Amino acid sequence: MVTLLEGRPIAARIREGLKEEVERIKSTHGLVPRLVAVQVGENLASAVYIKSQRKVSEALGIEYELKGLDERISEQGLIDSIKRLNEDEKVSGIIIQLPLPKGLDFKNIVSFIDPEKDAEGMHPENLGRILLGKPKLIPCTPQAVMELVKETNVDLYGKEVICVGHSEIVGKPLALLFLDKFATTTVCHIGTGERGVLPDHVKRAEVLVVAVGKAGLIKGEWIRDGAIVIDVGINRVGDKIVGDVEFDEASKRAGFITPVPGGVGPLTTAMLMRNVVEAFKLQRNR
Ligand code: NAD
Repeated sequence: MVTLLEGRPIAARIREGLKEEVERIKSTHGLVPRLVAVQVGENLASAVYIKSQRKVSEALGIEYELKGLDERISEQGLIDSIKRLNEDEKVSGIIIQLPLPKGLDFKNIVSFIDPEKDAEGMHPENLGRILLGKPKLIPCTPQAVMELVKETNVDLYGKEVICVGHSEIVGKPLALLFLDKFATTTVCHIGTGERGVLPDHVKRAEVLVVAVGKAGLIKGEWIRDGAIVIDVGINRVGDKIVGDVEFDEASKRAGFITPVPGGVGPLTTAMLMRNVVEAFKLQRNR
């Protein structure tokens, strides 16, 4: 029997803990963590994300500020804005909303955020710390995936973990988090797919995480019996949102599987909030 790994109840539990922590911070320090979201230009996809960030922040007692910048801003102009936020003691966390307009290089820009205010954990120092096994602020989606895996109570030691997708924001940091748990970790990507060997790898997975963005990429029949299947993908098919895994067919074989929507997504925002609270504490300990 497959168990549905739903993100909402786990996210609610984590938010409850964070709310209490924010109250403690408020009574000890007389102030609350503050998250600033930097948005360059207008974008429909990030507007949805911003709305949910604001709602969750406010429910936890975290201050939320949207800093909208003109879409014609230069890279240096954006970096200067970030530097001012770094220096502002009232700002605990900074997030740059993606996508950025063409011509603005996120990987360069993110390196100007104070690493201890880096709410998304995408500063090179924070990514490097994962490699060293000494993380401070971890990217939100990989953290969300690890929370879901933790929920299954499965010991990762020596397990076959297959991550499909090798982006800097999901697949690569996630693979390092699994390695840190001594899982036998394989990362698949477009090269694996184009060489035609993706099914061979997926069939071995005791834990399978897919973060690609292609509906139906992972066939249900490839799923190993009893596997933990975490589907990070978000795809619009007609008027429905689906993941990258054939859900119905995969559910016949998996031990645990995340729904899309309602799996990884709800946890990602909770992880962002956790990072903002962690960031506040890091800054107070400097
Ligand atoms: P990306 O485009 O940066 O990376 C896609 C990855 O898929 C790459 O590693 C690429 O090599 C790989 N890939 C492409 N085609 C492939 C194929 N045929 N076979 C094997 N691998 C293939 O994407 P991303 O930013 O990592 O996001 C991936 C998906 O996860 C998207 O659908 C995105 O919307 C979703 N996402 C969800 C959340 C969440 O909170 N639920 C967060 C981040 C991303």
